[in-house]
Amino acid sequence: MPILDKVLIANRGEIALRILRACRELGVKTVAVHSEADRDLKHVRLADETVCIGPAPSDKSYLNIPALISAAEVTDATAIHPGYGFLSENADFAERVEDSGFIFIGPKAESIRVMGDKVAAIEAMQKAGVPCVPGSDGELGDNNETNLALAQKIGYPIIIKAAGGGGGRGMRVVHTEAHLLNSIALTKSEAGQFFGNSAVYMEKYLETPRHVEIQILSDGQGHAVHLGERDCSMQRRNQKVVEEAPAPGISEEMRNEIGSRCVEACIQMNYRGAGTFEFLYENGEFYFIEMNTRVQVEHPVTEMITGVDIVKEQLYIAAGQPLRIKQEDVVIRGHAVECRINAEDSKTFMPSPGKIISYHAPGGPGIRVESHIYAGYTVPPHYDSMIGKIIAHGDDRATAIARMQGALSELFIEGIKNNADLQKSIMDDAAFQAGGADIHYLEKKLGL
Ligand code: ADP
Repeated sequence: MPILDKVLIANRGEIALRILRACRELGVKTVAVHSEADRDLKHVRLADETVCIGPAPSDKSYLNIPALISAAEVTDATAIHPGYGFLSENADFAERVEDSGFIFIGPKAESIRVMGDKVAAIEAMQKAGVPCVPGSDGELGDNNETNLALAQKIGYPIIIKAAGGGGGRGMRVVHTEAHLLNSIALTKSEAGQFFGNSAVYMEKYLETPRHVEIQILSDGQGHAVHLGERDCSMQRRNQKVVEEAPAPGISEEMRNEIGSRCVEACIQMNYRGAGTFEFLYENGEFYFIEMNTRVQVEHPVTEMITGVDIVKEQLYIAAGQPLRIKQEDVVIRGHAVECRINAEDSKTFMPSPGKIISYHAPGGPGIRVESHIYAGYTVPPHYDSMIGKIIAHGDDRATAIARMQGALSELFIEGIKNNADLQKSIMDDAAFQAGGADIHYLEKKLGL
């Protein structure tokens, strides 16, 4: 008997294929849902059943909750995997899925709700002893004197953030006292407009942090483990470009210290599923910024160094099984780097959808390719431009980077542009090779 009978994959592209592969390995049947523009997706061709859920625009298909629920009903699916993006962190969707009698492969709606409200999330973290950025410890009130005094105590620069913000929006950095009150008022009014929640809070603005995040698995039955950290500091416009694990310069002691705080938080929240605690890391200290309650794009680098299949574990947890891994079983071996491959111009970043005429994937020792593309496939213009990921693993960081350099030069995609040249220039970059560059490094290198 498979652990689950049939999983509906509520996503597209490489992550849908990744989920399909995990299901197949476990003998779980699959339902691929797709938009009218996505009939030719690789996982749609491989799935046991397929359902067209609407026209190309995401709000009519991949974000269309009633269409997804009816697809699960007509195919008699047991569970729904949301992947990342789209509805993966939508608490109302998780609730609708469970109320309709399906298993949501992710946390309970209430966990998603708490983590979607940054003020509530920080409060939960502080309770569990997870280190946060020094700040207002809650929503800012209307008293100007209090707010001015608070900012002075924290010390400029500070950042005003919307409790309901996301995707890098709803934030404003304030360098001097003269701009504080005006910035609070502006951020509040934008927050109300964009997120339907005008609550804002204040944090110390860290000037040259790295992005370091902890992967966890938690079964909602009192067991949780961390799978170490990833460094995702190579970013452009708050979008990760390169990720790696482990993070350069993080000792085993530091990893275990911050990891066990995250595990503690999962147990206190009775968290269920895979999740990521994101931190800014500066001068040897971790500062929590947010938790992602889903599988992440960069999960393979952790899989490569731990040997744990995170998507399979998500399925086991969803099936109600107690966590199969103990903390002492988690052993880190070697180093892994991931490059996101986007259908875009390497210099202008303009998206480049269209038909792939020919395609040769890289290979060789330590190389893993997660991609749904194939020769003859047309990349539609309606969705994110990421068409795949290359992951390179090696006994040490230098080997992983060297393997990635080889893989990037092997990659051949004809018909559309891709960002392999940008990725090559990052792999060849002295500061990247040294390790530990901050989150502003890539934009500075690109002259942005
Ligand atoms: P979102 O949910 O919009 O992604 P986050 O809270 O994760 O918001 O912050 C997004 C990015 O904004 C961070 O990765 C970091 O670059 C920057 N940022 C957020 N808080 C701070 C801070 N206190 N100091 C410096 N940079 C910050």
